[in-house]
Amino acid sequence: MVKSMKRRHLLKALGLGCIGFGIAPEILAKTVRGYFAGATYSTDGGLKDYLHKIHNFNHPHHDDLQIDSNLYGAFESTVMRLRRLQKLVGHGNFHILNFSDGLLLARNYSKVGRFTKSELSFMETIFYEDGQHYGFLGQKPIKEITDQVKKNDVVKIPYSGNYLYKDRSIEIFERIKKELGDQVVLTSGIRNVMKQFLLFLNKVYDSNGNLSLASRSLAPPGYSFHGNGDFDVGQVGYGALNFTGRFTETEVYKKLSERGYLKLRYPQDNMLGVRYEPWHIKINADV
Ligand SMILES: [Zn+2]
Repeated sequence: MVKSMKRRHLLKALGLGCIGFGIAPEILAKTVRGYFAGATYSTDGGLKDYLHKIHNFNHPHHDDLQIDSNLYGAFESTVMRLRRLQKLVGHGNFHILNFSDGLLLARNYSKVGRFTKSELSFMETIFYEDGQHYGFLGQKPIKEITDQVKKNDVVKIPYSGNYLYKDRSIEIFERIKKELGDQVVLTSGIRNVMKQFLLFLNKVYDSNGNLSLASRSLAPPGYSFHGNGDFDVGQVGYGALNFTGRFTETEVYKKLSERGYLKLRYPQDNMLGVRYEPWHIKINADV
């Protein structure tokens, strides 16, 4: 579906020339061990280019991947239909809406309308596309487009419009709430496949079809650990700034950091192709 791209050279040589770029050794070690042992960045220049990209994540880059022009129509109409679907079910419910239930609702409510064949095929292509083609190098916890979040497994967090998993996330969030009090807020919890589709495709839409740019700040559907228990926290009253580097200036960030809660999914200068996300709490430190 996307323009072919030269195979990326990854990080066998990572431990050699990159300390000077400010990457912590433990991140390097984990990266090489966990994600792409055997691959290599051929030069320091390649690494510098990579870091430039994730530091300037919101700007287009010369080798970014764009949506093919012949798929643009299906892409745009999918975005619009997903927006209508979210409006129909409400933001809270949309967080946990499954793919199949979403299709059914769209078909049954004329203000959303049935997903067309070309929209479904577009969504399938996006879901099963290898994130590495965009430059997204994280794991894929949600394997199938039809994977379900079961209502019995989740709990709605009052006043947030967000849900957390009963068995893995709520306990950590409750502990954080108890220790930090009312100044901490849950900014994003569980996101099922439909929600991640809309978030990712909205970003692609705002970036004129740039899949790589979008994937530097939003995981493609299937690749988000919000489907698997991770959640985002913020400082009350900080609004959209909670999703920027300014979050690190807040009391909430300082306290979470001191208390050891910030086992980050996307640390500074990570090698997963993703910007620094100090607000994103990793639930299972092993994955
Ligand atoms: Zn997050």
